[in-house]
Amino acid sequence: MELANKNILIVGLGRTGFAAAQFANNRGATVTVTDIANEQELGSYAQTAREMGIKIELGQHRNKTFETADLILLSPGVSHTIRPIKKAKDKGITVLGEIEFAFKFIREPIIAVTGTNGKTTTTTLLGNMLRNSGFKIFVGGNIGNPLIGYVNKGEKAEIVVVEVSSFQLDTIDSFKPKVGVLLNITEDHLDRYPNFQAYAKAKARIFENQQKNDTAVLNGSDPLVCSVCKNIKSRKLLFYDHNDFQIGTNEGAVLNNKRIIINTKEKGKRTLDLSSTSLLGRHNIENAAAASIAALAAGGKLQSVQTALNKFTGLPHRLEYVATVDGVRYYNDSKATNVHSAMKALETFSKPVILIMGGRDKGSNFQLLEDLMREHVKELIIIGEAKKDIKSALGHITPTKIATTMEDAVYQAYLTAKPGDVVLLSPACSSFDMYSNYAERGEVFYELVNHLS
Ligand code: ADP
Repeated sequence: MELANKNILIVGLGRTGFAAAQFANNRGATVTVTDIANEQELGSYAQTAREMGIKIELGQHRNKTFETADLILLSPGVSHTIRPIKKAKDKGITVLGEIEFAFKFIREPIIAVTGTNGKTTTTTLLGNMLRNSGFKIFVGGNIGNPLIGYVNKGEKAEIVVVEVSSFQLDTIDSFKPKVGVLLNITEDHLDRYPNFQAYAKAKARIFENQQKNDTAVLNGSDPLVCSVCKNIKSRKLLFYDHNDFQIGTNEGAVLNNKRIIINTKEKGKRTLDLSSTSLLGRHNIENAAAASIAALAAGGKLQSVQTALNKFTGLPHRLEYVATVDGVRYYNDSKATNVHSAMKALETFSKPVILIMGGRDKGSNFQLLEDLMREHVKELIIIGEAKKDIKSALGHITPTKIATTMEDAVYQAYLTAKPGDVVLLSPACSSFDMYSNYAERGEVFYELVNHLS
């Protein structure tokens, strides 16, 4: 794709937008970046981009800027349905998402991971497995290391491992991973999609350009994943979450007590041992199974995959153990920004849980937590904008309190907890009502807990 002397407009000046602007600028394009946020909100990106000779338009989207572009590139955080984008498309201007744009410059095999939950964990684990197998790899995408940044650097990896969100898949056209992974599809982002079916279909687009010699790693226990992927052309490797499931002639993986049994036509049955893993929760074992079969499909070695499983201790803000205070264990699961991830967190614990949840609602059905709340939660402490909705959905099930701040929530949990209990921050909501992101929310919780001891 030739960029020199083209008028390229980049919409959204975050990390990805900045990396795309830098790349297009290096290739000789005339680059403009627009963002509805103001200079203060964007930190140093605007000034740095200006110094590179990039035009910056902040605080608004001017129609003229969109209409005079030869090519428009969308950052993952910007919806492709906003008015100026729709108008530009009507005028015949090409609009590409960053993943699609980067893909046009990548010749190496790509392994892509999507799903509602578990993407970052699985992508990281997959990267470790392939690195251990001796490949030079790049790990990036939605994980916080833009794919276009890899292209811009010009250093070639042997395999590119990329996490992709549904928003990024909304704007693909020819993007085709050699191995694609779809972990699960549960309700999320209903504030950005017209309905759940539209969101589910966006996820399945990861396979839309794959052919018979490409591989799809699918959650065979997720009926929605199976239904939206029924007609894909790729070779299917299925992983299942039940212990007693027989793999039979299917290709893929099943869980059997502390083992993952893998079956493929070329290699037959092989086993990975989970007895040394410190991964918490059944959902993480599913992530491990998906990562393992994807890594092996991409040429990874069984022993290297095993070593990666043994060494992986999980990621910050995902069911992260913080400390034990007066016999009470505290866990930070701030990245649980939807109801299903909070459900998985509750399923993990057999001890009574004091649950801190709340934040900004994304159109969720909190009632889905009812049964788990009854079984596991000793007290519910609610924070943030969604407090009324959560209280009316769940407040009748278990003793419930409202906290004004995270500090108040942690202190109330501390007063209630008895030795042997678990205090869990698993918000089931986004963090944007009180924090700039989930990591900041998790760090505040972490600090407060450490001050208790
Ligand atoms: P993502 O990148 O998709 O947001 P993460 O690996 O960052 O996924 O995990 C986000 C949240 O989802 C965490 O709370 C984590 O414990 C939970 N989680 C991880 N894997 C799964 C899974 N397979 N199913 C449901 N929840 C999961």
